[in-house]
Amino acid sequence: MKVKEIMKTLEAKHPGEKEYLQAVEEVLVSIEKVYNEHPEFEKAKIIERLVEPDRIFTFRVTWVNDKGEVCTNLGYRVQFNAALGAYKGGLRFHPAVNVSMLKLLGFEQIFKNSLTNLPLGGGKGGADFDPTGKSDAEIMRFCQAFMYELWRNIGPDQDSPAGDVGVGGREIGYLYGAYKKLAREHSTGALTGKSYGWGGSLIRPEATGFGAMYYVERMVKQKKENMKGKKIALSGFGNVAWGAATKAVEMGAKVVAISGPDGVCEIKDGITKEMIDYMLDMRASNRNKVEDMATKFPKLAKFTAGKKAWSVKCDIAMPCAFQNELSEDDAKMLIKNGVKYVAEVSNMGCQPGAIAAFQKAKLPFAPGKAVNAGGVATSGLEICQNAGHINWTAEEVDVKLHKIMNDIYDMCVEYGKKGNTIDYVKGANIAGFMRVAKAMLAQGII
Ligand code: GLU
Repeated sequence: MKVKEIMKTLEAKHPGEKEYLQAVEEVLVSIEKVYNEHPEFEKAKIIERLVEPDRIFTFRVTWVNDKGEVCTNLGYRVQFNAALGAYKGGLRFHPAVNVSMLKLLGFEQIFKNSLTNLPLGGGKGGADFDPTGKSDAEIMRFCQAFMYELWRNIGPDQDSPAGDVGVGGREIGYLYGAYKKLAREHSTGALTGKSYGWGGSLIRPEATGFGAMYYVERMVKQKKENMKGKKIALSGFGNVAWGAATKAVEMGAKVVAISGPDGVCEIKDGITKEMIDYMLDMRASNRNKVEDMATKFPKLAKFTAGKKAWSVKCDIAMPCAFQNELSEDDAKMLIKNGVKYVAEVSNMGCQPGAIAAFQKAKLPFAPGKAVNAGGVATSGLEICQNAGHINWTAEEVDVKLHKIMNDIYDMCVEYGKKGNTIDYVKGANIAGFMRVAKAMLAQGII
């Protein structure tokens, strides 16, 4: 395989799909050497097959808003690769959603799901629907209209969507309700991220954030340090940042910043339990404003409009919001302010220039596909519980999640160790890729 040639062909075939091409290139660069040591991969054209989704569904979603107006959005599901199991990955509702974004996320999902060591293929979906400012009834009608189209193509042994940006427990409830009505399947893992009591798994809401902190704890230990008193800057204030903040506080660390599209809240003395609980209200309000935290807790949080979390001095930076949210300039500012560790929790949260800057500064940098894999891993555990018609306790799920994150960390080290340093990006990409490639090889040319 020659990365340059493959990228040239892909660019010609998919012009303008910037995010997708960026994600593919990042993976190919890391695996090139290992791939070329396996002529059987080349013979079976594993890469050429892996970079194209198995199929993409695009559909119209028409719904009625509270004013009685008819609205139309575009819905998608990218079923990327099923070598390891049924397609699995979240749904994103955001106005910027398009094929390129979902192909980037679906591609990343293949390797992330592979890292969990569970039987999960890779997929992703969503719609260019903007939940900001929508009423509960509007969200419900949109979710139902979305499911009218998608239900035939999903199922626990076919494709199992979950949440992502803009899709949380409430949306999964409406999507699942509509799915049950249409498919007449009443107890399944066709969707994960359901609430506890009707098929959901305990710890699923916390899983991405908890898993990320378990991974970060290992990065910190690797440097013979511990989490006590470490200052953490998080971006976002959604489900992922909430889970990460909860576990960070439990580990004795201090979350000193959270952010939103409107700006940053600096929390000098560290986030409190009450503030973490309030993050849930902020998300439920659909206002999408982090300033609300400072309005509610004026003595504890200071809001600055237009600034990112990366402007706040910290030991650990954890982007938890959106792809490409941390730029090279942000990285330089973090480095100047003494950041010691960077762990992407959002998918492809750092721009290539930012990753290069962190690596040049010899800072441990871990990619989203490893750090945030706890979410989809616990979705996999939810499917297991649904299939067995059983509920595990929170402790049982947490123990399994913790072990999966430890195993992912160990795999990243195994494949990413370079002398005294660890290239977590390379480690995650190679470890994730090898399992998928071997499965594709064993299953023949299909
Ligand atoms: N959206 C999450 C991710 O990026 C979770 C996917 C899932 O649980 O299926 O991995």
